[in-house]
Amino acid sequence: MSYMGAWRYELAIFFGTISCAVMLGSWLGLTWQLVATVLVGYILWHLTQAYRLLRWLKDSKHRYPPESEGIWGDIFYLLFKQQQRNSRRQHDLLSIISQFKASTAALPEGAIVLGEFGEILWFNRSAKKLLGLSPAKDNGQRLVNLVRNPSFVSYVSKGDYSRSIEFPSSLNNEVILSVNITPYKGKQRLIMVRDVTRISKLEQIRKDFIANASHELRSPLTVISGYLETIGDSVSDFCPRYEKPVQQMIEQAQRMKSIVDNLLFLSKLENVKLSEFNEVVDIAALTETIIKEARSLAPEKQLDIDSKIASNQKLRGSSLELYSAFSNLVFNAVRYTPAHGHIQITWTSLAANSAEFSVTDDGIGIEAHHLPRLTERFYRVDDGRSREMGGTGLGLAIVKHVLERHHSALEIESVINQGSRFSCKFLDDKMVIN
Ligand code: ADP
Repeated sequence: MSYMGAWRYELAIFFGTISCAVMLGSWLGLTWQLVATVLVGYILWHLTQAYRLLRWLKDSKHRYPPESEGIWGDIFYLLFKQQQRNSRRQHDLLSIISQFKASTAALPEGAIVLGEFGEILWFNRSAKKLLGLSPAKDNGQRLVNLVRNPSFVSYVSKGDYSRSIEFPSSLNNEVILSVNITPYKGKQRLIMVRDVTRISKLEQIRKDFIANASHELRSPLTVISGYLETIGDSVSDFCPRYEKPVQQMIEQAQRMKSIVDNLLFLSKLENVKLSEFNEVVDIAALTETIIKEARSLAPEKQLDIDSKIASNQKLRGSSLELYSAFSNLVFNAVRYTPAHGHIQITWTSLAANSAEFSVTDDGIGIEAHHLPRLTERFYRVDDGRSREMGGTGLGLAIVKHVLERHHSALEIESVINQGSRFSCKFLDDKMVIN
């Protein structure tokens, strides 16, 4: 019966009984007494139903509602349905939570949920193992009080979570942990911790191998170059037909030396920490030196190389590294700009404590799909052209590393056959001195 049907049925019973009481009462001459008796009976019946409802709601043992007529039958039935729906929903939610718990517990990565004050709200089994947390006493504690590694503490408090950090575990120095933070729901944070010891060891082996191989190649190359140059000085006198091959050998030995030197420089950038940025580098003066060298690099091209130094801001960092990065950009512009082209180098103040260095040329340009890969080691747009120009394929990789160490990044804009613009913004107010 629909609830409107039950309601009509209830009203019909009520008015029907009252009408019968009125009719019978007026026949017997006891109208009010009979109507009052019927009303009291009616109210008593409702009170009984309300009591049965209350008892059923209170007593969880009565799974099924009591049987009843009219609107009470409907009320019992609808409440019972709602209860069933709620308990089904609760059951579903509980099973989702227990599935979530089981899957996160099985994760090889440690997962920790931090509350708005950095206190631990929840963590899984791997977090317990990797960071040595204890569910009994560490829940509710601030994580930075338990994991006291300085780089971790500054990473958590800085609020810049665009990158992950790595640091040795305090439980075992040999274990390297990688931590990544994702903020959510305002100030809550999800922390993922991974054991990256194996990857980090492999990475170190790779770095050591390149550094050692380059180092080992350097001495024999120096000897070979030395002898070749001596032979080159007099080859035209005693064996003119070898003049060209010897010249080519000298050039190739020089190229190999440049590659080895660049690899060693890259290894140094990767392995040696930039000792406290206490060198103050005068970028205007550095640019002037680089421009002079660039002009003498390919005088036959008659390039128009000019500079616009609109800032006297200086940079904190390594003058050798900044020279290497900026000169690579300028020398590339010289290499990849045809005769009579234009190159402009700028050093511009963007605001207090921030500035930009840029090199713009109207040379050969680069197709858009190459741009994301240009800073990879040995990535060249055109192998033949790069070699012909004396490139090692390592220049932009060096630029990228140096800029990262100086809290900046390389931006490249280029249009094929129209030219390119390589720029880097220094926005860290600790690095730029006004
Ligand atoms: P390379 O020693 O080959 O120049 P780099 O790492 O310096 O190596 O540059 C990578 C590649 O980027 C180059 O091979 C070249 O194709 C391209 N490139 C770099 N600078 C420019 C430029 N100013 N104009 C056009 N192409 C460039």
